[in-house]
Amino acid sequence: MAEFSAQRLGLPWPASVFRDDDGALRFAGADIRELAAEFGTPAYLVDEDEFRGRARDIKRVFQAAFAEIGADLDVYYASKAFLSVAVARWITQDGLNLDTASGGELTIALAGGVPGENIGLHGNNKSDDELRLALNHSVGRIVVDSLAEVHQVVRIAQELGVQQVPVMVRLTTGVHAGGHEYISTAHEDQKFGLSIAAGAASSPSPAWVALEEILRHPELRLMGVHSHIGSQIQQSAGFAAAAEAVLTMRAEFFAATGHLLAEVDLGGGFGIAYLPGEVPMDLEIVAKEMAQAVLAMNVNDAGEPLPLPRFSIEPGRVIAGPAGITVYEVGTVKQVRASEDLVRTYVSVDGGMSDNIRPALYGAHYHAVLANRQSAAEPMLARVVGKHCESGDIVVHEVQLPSDIQAGDLLAVAATGAYGRAMSSNYNMLTRPPVIAVQDGSGRVLIRRETYQDFLSLDQG
Ligand SMILES: *Cc1c(COP(=O)(O)O)cnc(C)c1O
Repeated sequence: MAEFSAQRLGLPWPASVFRDDDGALRFAGADIRELAAEFGTPAYLVDEDEFRGRARDIKRVFQAAFAEIGADLDVYYASKAFLSVAVARWITQDGLNLDTASGGELTIALAGGVPGENIGLHGNNKSDDELRLALNHSVGRIVVDSLAEVHQVVRIAQELGVQQVPVMVRLTTGVHAGGHEYISTAHEDQKFGLSIAAGAASSPSPAWVALEEILRHPELRLMGVHSHIGSQIQQSAGFAAAAEAVLTMRAEFFAATGHLLAEVDLGGGFGIAYLPGEVPMDLEIVAKEMAQAVLAMNVNDAGEPLPLPRFSIEPGRVIAGPAGITVYEVGTVKQVRASEDLVRTYVSVDGGMSDNIRPALYGAHYHAVLANRQSAAEPMLARVVGKHCESGDIVVHEVQLPSDIQAGDLLAVAATGAYGRAMSSNYNMLTRPPVIAVQDGSGRVLIRRETYQDFLSLDQG
């Protein structure tokens, strides 16, 4: 079999992925055929070293860039990208903090032993019970998203007899970025945060009103402000623009009230490569640009520097996404005449929109390869589809696959580690795939595959 010498696949695959001499993929030292045989398909595979290495890398890179301007920085892993008890443990062992956005995420984080003080709680519509859970575990910060929530947290703090609950205010800076677009808008027509733009002439901004209200309540401790501008961002200009807006607002708030906000969170949203040829953002450059942007704006109205706040960032996708892949088994293969001169082959797999909703939800693109063998057959234009009752149930819109692909083959899809399992469903009553951590050639179950018995035990008949 010398015909196929071992070759690394490169991005968007984790560094550990290569095609061995026998033609099959290796993932974190394991033969993908053996993982499929042991754990079944579909399965989410997480390269544990890749995940943890990425977490440590982003922390190192941002701490170094901010140390250069004399500022401290914490990294909060945005756990909504992918969370399990083991992941919560990894994050803590690797020296990161963890962000949650619901009582469920908070519960998993606590089960993973994350100390309350290392946890942040987000959300634009937190319930009383979620706030009680957070306060009972003394979470490190609650990011409030409305004036009503300020009063809600005060009420829950009074109920529980606690003082000085650490809160941040989520700002809407007017900078919105996401996907491959960077769009700056004057007003933000979306549900998150409190605008820093003043309303009618000389009326204070909603953010300002909330900040001042927090200062009036001994139940609360105003830690600072927070800004998150979008996700899968591929240009650093949006991050720098938002950082500037937040620091400017902090300086103005100080001038007007004498209160210097101690902490500033600059959010997450760092983009990754999903397709071959896509070049992910260089985080060292982004970190440096953000640090320089905040330094430039960290001045009072006389142009003198202010004491720097403590900073934080909240990356999710950039840690979890590239570390995970999904392995499916191929079923039906069907030729479809898409148009006069285009024949497309539909390759059905044993999962679909229930394990990865992103293509159906927002047209996200992925890349796939034949995983159990190498083929010398001509490549053909294929579309990988799931087994759900929706024609929009697409896993990979367009990919070249060997024309001899057939039922029983394994197909691997890259960069599914973030927002795959996290956004999964039981549509068509499919059981959710397991999440398998793979390291040094062997896999272990982080989250087991669901069973039909799980469905029956939820159903009260
Ligand atoms: C989703 C989210 C993040 C993480 O976004 P990524 O694109 O996964 O980095 C960070 N902060 C907040 C508030 C979020 O909602």
